[in-house]
Amino acid sequence: MAGTSASRYFCPMHSDVRAAGPGKCSKCGMDLVPEGTRFALLQHMLGNRTHLIVMAAFMVALMAAAMMMLR
Ligand SMILES: [Zn+2]
Repeated sequence: MAGTSASRYFCPMHSDVRAAGPGKCSKCGMDLVPEGTRFALLQHMLGNRTHLIVMAAFMVALMAAAMMMLR
């Protein structure tokens, strides 16, 4: 990952939110990630605790719904 020329950062959740450098999204407050990062969304998720909690809650809700349907 040496010599990256990425100068633009963006919020994976809001592609219209961009900045010249690292910062926070003005809409959701999440960390901006460098443009061109292959796993930008994953890094964005893992790098933010709020996203992890939201994802965990979503997965639990999904599993609960699936178990209810299986009954
Ligand atoms: Zn955002």
